[in-house]
Amino acid sequence: MSGRAQLMWDEAVTGYDFGPEHPMDPVRLALTRSLVGALGLDREVEVVAARPAGDSTLRLVHREDYIDAVKAASADPGAADVSYGLGTIDDPAFAGMHEVSALIAGQSVGAAEAVWRGDALHAVNFAGGLHHAMPGAASGFCVYNDAALAIARLLELGVERVAYVDVDVHHGDGVQAAFWEDPRVLTVSLHEHPATLFPQTGWPEETGADRAEGSAVNVALPAGTGDAGWLRAFHAVVPEVLAEFRPQVLVTQHGADTHFEDPLAHLAVSLDAQRAVQVACHELAHEYAGGRWVALGGGGYAVVEVVPRSWAHLVGVAAGRPVEPETVIPEGWRQEVYARTRQLGPMRMTDGRWPVSYASWEAGYDPADRVDQAVRAARRAVFPLRGLLP
Ligand SMILES: [Zn+2]
Repeated sequence: MSGRAQLMWDEAVTGYDFGPEHPMDPVRLALTRSLVGALGLDREVEVVAARPAGDSTLRLVHREDYIDAVKAASADPGAADVSYGLGTIDDPAFAGMHEVSALIAGQSVGAAEAVWRGDALHAVNFAGGLHHAMPGAASGFCVYNDAALAIARLLELGVERVAYVDVDVHHGDGVQAAFWEDPRVLTVSLHEHPATLFPQTGWPEETGADRAEGSAVNVALPAGTGDAGWLRAFHAVVPEVLAEFRPQVLVTQHGADTHFEDPLAHLAVSLDAQRAVQVACHELAHEYAGGRWVALGGGGYAVVEVVPRSWAHLVGVAAGRPVEPETVIPEGWRQEVYARTRQLGPMRMTDGRWPVSYASWEAGYDPADRVDQAVRAARRAVFPLRGLLP
């Protein structure tokens, strides 16, 4: 067993490109990779390119007719079938769409395999976390659901309990849907309330079906939630359900779109709180999952100011060499940012909110506080189903 972390990276993932009008600019991946290098973090991890996910792997989650539709749109973008969510404003078709989507999925599947085999204790695929893709449709900038595929591959390998924790600002609806009736997978999503944000799901009452009732946990936070509320909600829900579920592997999704600068959503979380949750996920993996941790990226549309720093922190945390928030960003990276985007890059690895603090749930709650109401709704809906006190 190697303690080393793996960073999944193949330059070709930057071909996941919906075009110049689309908010998910792949420069965010390229700039993250180069910031990881500029900070010297790539010497602390093993950088690995996994193979693309093949059809038999994609079929673990996706319907065959949908995979065929993606391939057809990939070969001829003009012929994309909108009934599969392809060729839409959110998911425009582009040449090579199938191949690059399968490549990203392959990095998450490869990360899961490496962690389960013990080749690495932790593995990061910041190009992944495409959590909105459904078994039979593209949705919300996501073609193949690499997170669900990584989990499905673990189940195929014989893992009996996988926990998925999603802190993207959007509900992790595709992953929840894939395992809605599967008690082997616990999905936990913290997100902005569905009343104010896509995909309009993730209500606390969504708790899973049949034998899997209580295996979906949804914390729907009010727009405007900041660092203290976000961290309070995370710690009021996630550790208790993980302690009870006892996952063999922890898969986490770290969409950076909770950030106050993100143009597509309305939470007000800082980079420093994002880093604190990354650190917490790392600790939870060690506490409850034998250290086996697969960490994925996700949304994030402040592609210069936020995403590269957030996910470089994630790599640092997984590498066992967390980047100090006060770290000054190397000038060479800022020059690259300017050359590629004509924007000025950030100066430091912090938003100046470090250290972030929050009040713990155990000390009591305020029934009039909207974050506390969201936490209580989540706990009341699902904790009793898991034998926990609400
Ligand atoms: Zn998102």
